Amino acid sequence: MAVLPEIDMINEAFWTKGRDGKIMIVQCPDCERFIHPPERICPNCLGRNVAPRAVSGDATIYSFTINHQPWLPDMAVPFALVVADIDAAPGVRIAARFETDDIAEIAIGQKLIMDFEEVEDIRLPFFRSAQEAAQ
Ligand SMILES: [Zn+2]
Repeated sequence: MAVLPEIDMINEAFWTKGRDGKIMIVQCPDCERFIHPPERICPNCLGRNVAPRAVSGDATIYSFTINHQPWLPDMAVPFALVVADIDAAPGVRIAARFETDDIAEIAIGQKLIMDFEEVEDIRLPFFRSAQEAAQ
C-alpha cells in the first residue's frame, strides 16, 4: 500500500488528473512560468491567475538513487527513484519512482515517459523508460 499525499485545492489537479502520459502542472498565464509544487500566486510575477495545465510527462533524468531498503513491508527492492526534468515544463523537476527492467543501466540524461498508479482517488505518477516503452 502506497503512502498517499494529502490533497488540497492547490495540488488536487496534480494528484488526481494525470492521464495518458500527461500531468497537470500549474502555470502562470501572465508570464508563462510553470510552478511546481503548485502555488496560488506566481513566484515570478505575483500573478494570481495561475491554473493547472496538462503537459506531456516526457522527462529527462536529472538525478537518481537506487534503494535497497524496503521502507514499507510490501516494498520490492531494489527500486529506483529519480528526479527528472519535465521536458515540456521548463524549470519543473518531479521526483518519482522509476519502473525499469534494467536498474543497472539507469543514467543521468535518460529519457522517460510518465505513467500513473491509481490508488483510491489518487493517480500517483511514476516513470518508465521511453526506450523500453517504444519496444
Ligand atoms: Zn507569472
